[in-house]
Amino acid sequence: DTGLGSWPSRRARISPHRTALVQADRTLTYAGLAHRVDRLAAALTRLGVRRGDRVAYLGVNDITVFETLFATALCGAIFVPLNHRLSGVEIGYMLADCGASLLVHSADADELVAAAGALPRVLRTSEFDAEINTEIAAGGEPPAAGVTFDDPCLLLYTSGTTGKPKAAVLTHGNLTWNTVNQLAHFDVLSTDRALCIAPLFHCVGLGQITLPTLFKGGSVEPVAKFDPGVILARIEQAGITGFSAVPTMLQMMCQDPSWDTTDLSSLTCVLYGGSPVQERVARAWLDRGVRLLQGYGMTEASPGVSMGTHDGTPEHPLSAGVPHFFTDMAALGHDERATPFGAEPAELLVRGPNVFAGYWNRPQESLDSFIDGEWFRSGDVVRVDDGWTHVVDRVKDLIISGGENVYPAEVEAVIVQLDEVESCAVVGVPDERWGEVGVAYVVTRTDLSESALRSHLEANLARYKVPRHLCFVDTLPRNATGKIRRVELRAMAARSFA
Ligand code: AMP
Ligand code: MG
Ligand code: MG
Repeated sequence: DTGLGSWPSRRARISPHRTALVQADRTLTYAGLAHRVDRLAAALTRLGVRRGDRVAYLGVNDITVFETLFATALCGAIFVPLNHRLSGVEIGYMLADCGASLLVHSADADELVAAAGALPRVLRTSEFDAEINTEIAAGGEPPAAGVTFDDPCLLLYTSGTTGKPKAAVLTHGNLTWNTVNQLAHFDVLSTDRALCIAPLFHCVGLGQITLPTLFKGGSVEPVAKFDPGVILARIEQAGITGFSAVPTMLQMMCQDPSWDTTDLSSLTCVLYGGSPVQERVARAWLDRGVRLLQGYGMTEASPGVSMGTHDGTPEHPLSAGVPHFFTDMAALGHDERATPFGAEPAELLVRGPNVFAGYWNRPQESLDSFIDGEWFRSGDVVRVDDGWTHVVDRVKDLIISGGENVYPAEVEAVIVQLDEVESCAVVGVPDERWGEVGVAYVVTRTDLSESALRSHLEANLARYKVPRHLCFVDTLPRNATGKIRRVELRAMAARSFA
């Protein structure tokens, strides 16, 4: 068995007494984790979980997420962590879509589970101790599923900023190679202590630093709820060495009242990714001497595609870095084939042992998402400059106005240069004359007039890139990982301006 389910016991051979997982009231060593995971896998088998079955999970970040992941993997079954911020209807859709045979959940998800409609068999995490004790008493052994790198390990529903959610199938091999890739870019030691603040139902939470830390025998501390002041206090108090975050989290932390007085010297590596970061936010962290690295990736790549480097990032603070060790990037050529990147931005194609084989139960979409059966179409427009990757925008977000390409991300970056601006999003809206025109939604922190914003845009951008409509709003709709829900904004813009 070379699957993730064997990680706790393999790691326990090397460093049994080191702390694997820690949380307010609980600490588990690698030996302790292996012991519980083996027994929990035996219990899951008794409850009917078989090789290839799907085991869904609902709940905030907690040690029990890891126990369920590893025990499920040991059964050769597939772990499906679901977003606990979704509605009952959405959860019901996903449970049916993946055909889950067991739903594991913690008490914080009680209401959501009740609202999800038809349910498979349910196991509450508060029942884990009793289940494990039953197996200890019975001398139950974990199943010998003989899992290999090619077996599916994880189904992750993509954040669904663009349509009906579909689940990427990630194999044990995909997740292991991503771990190796990550470790080639930054150092993790068995003495490290990582905070797990990004949600574990998303690839950034699981893949970027958490699995690499557990592979190396360091400690992981799952955090249930993101509160910038609490996280800063925890970094200082526990001597946290690293964490991985989405840009909005980094922004909230450096705007927190305790930012200036928090000792950040224990941090050896802070990773972020998932959406573009504002320059002033990246600078705020780099100026404090923090070794900050941007990662770029996607669920389908488990998730790492490229990452900054400790040597190069100070010179390229906003770049998404260079490709991961075993991962290759190419541009989608005009002939719809993979071609080396030139000076022009192009849609990025990705290849590597961390790239998935397809979506759950969607054979046609899976086939269509690859070029030559080998290169995954990322859907992102990327520019490569002297080997350094810059994520320009998503292909689908591109606005074509009067035949000219307008990348919303470029316009947004100009808008957030203004100190008065907190955040913004630009979307396209149909227009009879130009095909499409831009609409900017802007959240301000202090007063800003429309005319001042317009003159700033006109001074910094070609005329055709300046949004026709400028709208001040209180907040922007975001999903659980901080990505702006552009589908919602486009609908809003169409109602107001089309
Ligand atoms: P998901 O599969 O939900 O993790 O979303 C992946 C998408 O997030 C990518 O296809 C990009 O559009 C976006 N993304 C990820 N990392 C970055 C980054 N560093 N900069 C800009 N966009 C990013
Ligand atoms: Mg997505
Ligand atoms: Mg995607």
